[in-house]
Amino acid sequence: MARVYNFSAGPSMLPEKVLRQAQAELLEYGDSGQSVMEMSHRSKWFDAIIKDTEATLRRVMNIPDNYKVGFFQGGATQQFAMVPLNFMTTGKADYIVSGNFSGLAAKEAAKFGEAKIVASSKDKNFTYIPDVNAIDYDKDASYIHICQNNTIFGTQYVELPQVEGVPLVADMSSMILSKPVDVSKYGCIYFGVQKNVAPAGMAIAIIRDDLLGHAADNVPTMMNYTTLLAKDSMYNTPPCWCIYMTGLVLKYLENDIGGLANMQKINEAKAKVLYDYLDGQEFFTNPVEHRYRSTMNVTFTSPNPDMDKKFCAEAAEAGFVNLKGHRLVGGMRASIYNAMPAEGVDKLVDFMEKFRKENA
Ligand code: PMP
Repeated sequence: MARVYNFSAGPSMLPEKVLRQAQAELLEYGDSGQSVMEMSHRSKWFDAIIKDTEATLRRVMNIPDNYKVGFFQGGATQQFAMVPLNFMTTGKADYIVSGNFSGLAAKEAAKFGEAKIVASSKDKNFTYIPDVNAIDYDKDASYIHICQNNTIFGTQYVELPQVEGVPLVADMSSMILSKPVDVSKYGCIYFGVQKNVAPAGMAIAIIRDDLLGHAADNVPTMMNYTTLLAKDSMYNTPPCWCIYMTGLVLKYLENDIGGLANMQKINEAKAKVLYDYLDGQEFFTNPVEHRYRSTMNVTFTSPNPDMDKKFCAEAAEAGFVNLKGHRLVGGMRASIYNAMPAEGVDKLVDFMEKFRKENA
């Protein structure tokens, strides 16, 4: 078997132990005589899986009782619409644009009301996060929306907007479960699962219960959090396999990693290896203002685009795949999510140094 180090921004690596467990249970889950892929979502086995997955997420993230958890199809992009459709009760909301996805979220919300861009880091090609304490928030905004880690530009928030009476809504797609977060600081947290949690095909939302029940009557059923949550995410057929895989990854985080505080230590150590290397030479450079550097997505460039291409090709040959940066920024991006082993980052740095010596 020759598994590569996969630096994809998503879908991305899953823990090998989890893949093996899924493989072992593939043909027959427990005493069910069938695969999770085949079983009815109304069966007693799946009922236990979805309940256990939610309970484990609640333990791992320490989610307070006044928050509901839902499993939804449509990815994080569908959440860009569900958030305003469900929460924009005053007809307006504040959006901080710190990259591509927060821009898309604001654009989607503008279809349903006033999505006010209260700050943006576009002036410096999203290489920093706007100062959340210097923003003139609207007291009548229904919520403030942020994207907490910018997958494409490799930046992350270090402070959060906190405005009395205005809930914070955060897209955590590319940093969820990478470190502990204080859920009580948010009105809603949502994320696509295909980076740090599970295979593609699902988004999870964690919603403070006072925000539910305010959607207009004409909001489509499948876009209404309240309706879907009232049926425990089983109004229709849920993404069963994804929910099962989410449960396995969460158990792994809880039992093998020892929780999110340990996961954070591991992730920060991995990121430090890569950033320290980048800072210690001049061939590769990272453009991000240091204090906002992402722990999950590390962007860098070589001296020119042809060299970037050569680097990505030779890296892939050597077993380091999906290092090409997003087309909006070019260069390279190493996504080092939870499941990327420290060894993968160490070996990547060795490879980078070898490449630098040969090409500088
Ligand atoms: N938000 C962020 C931060 C993302 O990184 C992505 C996907 N890369 C999305 C939203 C969109 O997610 P999806 O493809 O699940 O709709």
